[in-house]
Amino acid sequence: MRKKTKLIHGGITGDEQTGAVNVPIYQVSTYEQESVGNHKGYEYSRTGNPTRFALEELIKDLEGGKQGFAFGSGMAAITSVFMLFSSGDHVIMTDDVYGGTYRVVSKVLSRFQIDVSFVDTSSPDEVKQAIQSNTKAIYVETPTNPLLKVTNLSKISDLAKEQDLLFIVDNTFSTPYWQNPIEFGADIVLHSATKYLGGHSDVVAGLVVVNSEKLAEELHFILNSAGGILGPQDSYLLIRGMKTLGVRMEEIEENTKQVVEFLHNHPSVTNVYYPGLASHSGHQIHLSQASGFGGMLSFDVGSGEMADQVLNRIQYFTLAESLGAVESLISVPARMTHASIPKSRREELGITDGLIRISVGLEDAEDLIEDLEQALK
Ligand SMILES: *Cc1c(COP(=O)(O)O)cnc(C)c1O
Repeated sequence: MRKKTKLIHGGITGDEQTGAVNVPIYQVSTYEQESVGNHKGYEYSRTGNPTRFALEELIKDLEGGKQGFAFGSGMAAITSVFMLFSSGDHVIMTDDVYGGTYRVVSKVLSRFQIDVSFVDTSSPDEVKQAIQSNTKAIYVETPTNPLLKVTNLSKISDLAKEQDLLFIVDNTFSTPYWQNPIEFGADIVLHSATKYLGGHSDVVAGLVVVNSEKLAEELHFILNSAGGILGPQDSYLLIRGMKTLGVRMEEIEENTKQVVEFLHNHPSVTNVYYPGLASHSGHQIHLSQASGFGGMLSFDVGSGEMADQVLNRIQYFTLAESLGAVESLISVPARMTHASIPKSRREELGITDGLIRISVGLEDAEDLIEDLEQALK
């Protein structure tokens, strides 16, 4: 099955009992047992729910793993994956990781003595040097947020395998439509499904796919114990959104190409960060591990004042956090998604006050470009 077919026919489709072409919303918390312990596969909806299971099967098929899990948010998914570790363990993580991920590891998990080193994972050498005797995992985002840095999945996977470390990839930006990290050796792939997978700014969710029975057992134990599950209504909405992931990503790719070309040639723009640009440092590596570049890009307008002007004038780009929806979104990472990262650290990373991030949506590219043109005047 190819990707667009898998989005429609993967996982569990329809309802055997009635012939309904959609999986019903099983709005139920508990299930009758014929005798103690004798049930039809479901006991209690924290442990398992048929609508959630249909979604979990779908993401499993899309990422090509052993088992999928659906959580109440991307952060619930990430936190649950970190519960695989114990006090005293060490994890190596991409340095310009999503702001919320930085926050949970540095402010919450640190209280449980789970230690994290932030490293430029686009350099395998730096990753190698950061490995300690208590290192248990390497966690990467590629491309990253908001500078679109690219990590070589195969190289990091080789390093992880050599040292018997788990290799975890946050695949939110590329989506399973463009990139499947398990093919390149990842053990765990996770998503903020709030973004492209849902795609319509109407659901907050997180998905995880693991590539071994052992990890599946361990993560299900955590999901059932800590209970950060996704409810049946949101599971249904997510399945509905995912059916059109392919057509959305193809169209977003087309729009983004045009927007990037416009910004790249604009005199007020000092820098455009997009892996699809041949001049981008990660262009070749990204091409070797993904079939599309996605709809996320950042550009620098030189100052916080100019960024303010653009935000004040722009019409079709909604000023909002988040990404990956039908509507184009615009944000200033330094003051929004990455505000929880200290200013000194932000500047080290290149997240300047003039950096603007956009998530290109499904409007007409001509309208988006005209809008950017008048905002940058
Ligand atoms: C949004 C996001 C998250 C967090 O997901 P939520 O659904 O908002 O909890 C994690 N990683 C990346 C790359 C994200 O963009």
